Amino acid sequence: MFSGGNTTSWDVIGLGANSVDYVYVLPAYPQPSGSRAKMRVGAHFVSCGGQVATALACCARLGLRAKYVGVTGTDDNGRRIREELGRRTIDLTDAVIRDLPNQFAVILVEEQSGERIVLWDRDERLQLRDRELPPDVLCATRVLHVDDVDQEAAIRAARLAGKHGVVVTSDIDRTTDLTMELVRSVTVPVFAEHVPRALTGEDDPERALRKLRREHPGLLCVTLGASGAVALDGDRFLRSPAFKVNAVDTTGAGDVFRGGFIYALLGGRSPMESLRFANAAAALSCTRRGAMNGVPNLEEVTALLANGEVHSI
Ligand code: ADP
Repeated sequence: MFSGGNTTSWDVIGLGANSVDYVYVLPAYPQPSGSRAKMRVGAHFVSCGGQVATALACCARLGLRAKYVGVTGTDDNGRRIREELGRRTIDLTDAVIRDLPNQFAVILVEEQSGERIVLWDRDERLQLRDRELPPDVLCATRVLHVDDVDQEAAIRAARLAGKHGVVVTSDIDRTTDLTMELVRSVTVPVFAEHVPRALTGEDDPERALRKLRREHPGLLCVTLGASGAVALDGDRFLRSPAFKVNAVDTTGAGDVFRGGFIYALLGGRSPMESLRFANAAAALSCTRRGAMNGVPNLEEVTALLANGEVHSI
């Protein structure tokens, strides 16, 4: 599936969301009444994130040539994200700067479990416009990674790149009228846990993926949080358990999973090995607070793959 590499300018181009995250670590999730109606914040910090931007940060950390195509704002958050992506050696020459506030999120992390609630805002005018999609550039990469934040742009870019033989991976974590069109436009849909259920009415991930097979012939993948990840490869259902780690913040785990998955597939690993590699990268990200803050390097992933323990399936 993944070939070439010598004639392309990029290993991976990411097209989609970036965000600046305001993270608050809480002893428990707030409630409108009782003892949890007021509580002291345990720790708080600002960290860069966003689905595609974090996945790219992971790819770059693992050593891939990465480029970002998306829209940033002109406020402090916009400046912050551009600085962070640049520092991480992600190319920004086709990223758009628009005179708007950047996307941002308030993230509430529960201290005990590391689980989080994401409250976000994004000005509709931050959408990529047709003329901002650079067709030549989108075809000069081995992988295009898109999310579903700016679905119309993602679908157009995926079709364009796909026609030129570029493998298109994706992050699909909501269902809208355009979701199935997006699924059909990409080479490897990587769903969040609730999406196959919402699309097919099947609770069981295997049954849901087998139903989705009628719509998509390629590798179909689902992340399952602390239960790891599963995929349907042809007719073969693959199940890869999560690594046992002390999770302090799962923000960005899904994005790091996708970054690790792209790296592994580009390196010629099998779908099963790629799931395991991606699970290891994502588990490491859960041991650190913040989305981009959590991306691991290759030595760390290799060590966890060699020595780590996985949960039983
Ligand atoms: P998303 O952010 O897309 O909802 P998930 O919550 O499914 O993503 O998590 C993505 C991946 O992160 C999982 O497939 C798994 O590899 C890893 N992961 C998530 N939570 C944990 C955890 N508590 N322990 C170990 N790995 C985890």
